[in-house]
Amino acid sequence: MRSLLALAALWPAAALAQPCVPTSAIAADGRVLGHLPYGGVAPELLVEAPEGFALRAGCRMRAEVAADLARLLAAAASDPTTGGELRGASCHRSLTWQASVFCAESHRDPALRAISVAPPGHSEHATGFAVDFAIRPSPNCPDVAGCMAALPPYRWLVRNAARFGFEQSFPAGNKQGVKWEPWHWRWVGATAAAPGAARARFLFAKARKLYPAGPTVP
Ligand SMILES: [Zn+2]
Repeated sequence: MRSLLALAALWPAAALAQPCVPTSAIAADGRVLGHLPYGGVAPELLVEAPEGFALRAGCRMRAEVAADLARLLAAAASDPTTGGELRGASCHRSLTWQASVFCAESHRDPALRAISVAPPGHSEHATGFAVDFAIRPSPNCPDVAGCMAALPPYRWLVRNAARFGFEQSFPAGNKQGVKWEPWHWRWVGATAAAPGAARARFLFAKARKLYPAGPTVP
């Protein structure tokens, strides 16, 4: 699998031709296996994550997201109630990258795979507006797992992330058909007038209307 992923990273056509990419029917609202469609962001609009955030190299996001994320991290670091450190498990993912992540999921059935990973072309990560948070320390709880919701820094996110323009895309019990992802937050700007907020809110308009985030940015 490692060599397959390496090939996919080097050769987009190879990734997209892999048999694990679904050819499922498109729902009336545009969803494929529960996930709404999203195009990719131009790479020149991406910047590196704030220093000390990324758990591994290659964590990039839109500049306006990085600016608010830096403010969020500073607020979390100076708040004695945070109870840990917020880190980045995943940031922008290109269509090719998303295909390799989707294809690496262990479930053979694309419908089962899509419960936890969006098919390529249907991930908020492609927009450059989404990040997956991780928590350190995180004893007995792996990254991007539901147990994260029991850790104090997650509770801090729930209380505070909206002030910095972040909302949880897939809350518990969402009607979208995507499993609860406490790690996955998208940026829509703390106010509609914030730089970049109009574009984010346009891209996520259908998701926000049909399948509200929670906690959500007003
Ligand atoms: Zn995510």
